[in-house]
Amino acid sequence: MAKIHFIDVTNRDGVQTAHLGLSKLEKTMINIYLNEMGVFQSEFGFPTTRHEQYYLQANLELAEMGVLKPIRLGGWIRAVVDDVEKAFKLVPGLKHLNLSMSTSDQMIQGKFQGARSQDDIATMMVHAVEAARAHGAESIGVNAEDASRTQIDFLVRFGLAAKEHGAQRLRYCDTLGYDNPFSIYESTRTLAENVGMPIELHCHGDLGMAVANSLSGAKGAIDGGQDAYINTTVNGIGERAGNADLVATALAITKSKAFAGKYQLEKPINLTKAWKISRFASYAFEVPIPINQPGVGANAFAHSSGIHADGVLKDPHNYELYSFDEVGRGEPELVETGRAICSGEYTGISGFRHIMGRMAVTFEDPAQAEEVLELARYANVEAQKPLIEDELLFIAKYPKIARKLLTLIPPE
Ligand SMILES: [Zn+2]
Repeated sequence: MAKIHFIDVTNRDGVQTAHLGLSKLEKTMINIYLNEMGVFQSEFGFPTTRHEQYYLQANLELAEMGVLKPIRLGGWIRAVVDDVEKAFKLVPGLKHLNLSMSTSDQMIQGKFQGARSQDDIATMMVHAVEAARAHGAESIGVNAEDASRTQIDFLVRFGLAAKEHGAQRLRYCDTLGYDNPFSIYESTRTLAENVGMPIELHCHGDLGMAVANSLSGAKGAIDGGQDAYINTTVNGIGERAGNADLVATALAITKSKAFAGKYQLEKPINLTKAWKISRFASYAFEVPIPINQPGVGANAFAHSSGIHADGVLKDPHNYELYSFDEVGRGEPELVETGRAICSGEYTGISGFRHIMGRMAVTFEDPAQAEEVLELARYANVEAQKPLIEDELLFIAKYPKIARKLLTLIPPE
C-alpha cells in the first residue's frame, strides 16, 4: 500500500518569500524541530548560494552526529549541470537534492523567450540528474515547475525521462496555486499511473486551496499506485499566499472524514510538537499566527457563545474535532512581566551568565563562557532579536557547529 510522506520546505520556499527570512541558527532550529516531529525530509536550503554553504555543511555534520536523524536534508537547485557542479563544490556532503525546471509553455516561452523547446527542457533536466548521480547523490527529486499549467503528456514524458536516468521522485509543482482538488487529483493519478514513480505535491494557496490540493494530489498519487510526498511549510509561510501548512496538512490527513483509513502516513507526525514549532516560526519570521489558524491559532479551542460553551463543557467532542493537547497545547507558559535580561549582540558576560544560569547551564571555566557568549553575540547579529532558550542551549552544546553555521564570508 502506497503511503504519504512529508517534505517540509520552510527553509527553502519559506525563506525565499518577500519580506521574510530566517537566520542560519533559526533555520537549524527548524530542522531540529521538524526532526522531532518525524518529518521525512527538510528542504534545508540553497547549496548554490554562497552564504548558505557553512550553514548547510554544519547541518549535514549534525546529521552525521545523529542530532538531525532520521530526517533527511535535501538541497534545492535548478536542474542545470552548472548548478549541480557548484552545489557539490560548495557543499560536498550533499546527499539529497531536488532539481527544478520550468515545464509549462507559459514559462518555457515566457522565461526562455523561444530559445528552448520541451525537448531541450527535458534534456537539460536529464543532464542535471546524471551530474547529480555522478557526484553520488543518494536521492534525487525532479521538480516540474508550473506543472499545473503544463500539458499532461509532456509531464509524463518529463517524468519518464527523469526516472530512466535515476531520479526517485517527480515533484508536481502547483507553483501558482492554480489547481483545485479535482484537477490535481486527475493530474497526479495520471502521472503516478503513467510514470510509475513517487509523486511530490507542492501546492500554493493563491486560491486558498493549498492543504486541500495537497490531500487530493496525494490521493491521486496513491490511487495511481505510488507514494505521495507532500511539501509543507511551518505556518504556511511561502511565496505570495504561501504553501500548505505543515500542522493543518497533518491534521487534515489524520482527522478529516474517512481519509486516514485508506490514505496513511508512512510514519506518524508527532503533532504534540506543533505548538512549539509553530510558535518558534512565528517568532523567528516575525509573523503572528492568525487567530483562526488550524490547531495553533488563539481561537482554535476558544468558545464564548452560549450554545458552544455549554456544549463543549458537557463534552468537548460537541465542538472540537481534536483536543488541544494533541497539538501540544495546554502547558502553562511563563511570561516575564517584570525585569528582563535577554541576549543581544552586545551582551556582556554578567548578563549572559544570568541568562544561562536560569536554564541551569554552567561553564567549566571563564574561557568557555566567553566562547559561548561570543557565538551568542554573532547569532544575535543575524537574528536581530533575543535568542530563545533552545537556541542558547544549542550554542552551548554544539559551539563548533554554531561557529560554522554562523560563518558568513563574502567572496573576494
Ligand atoms: Zn513554491
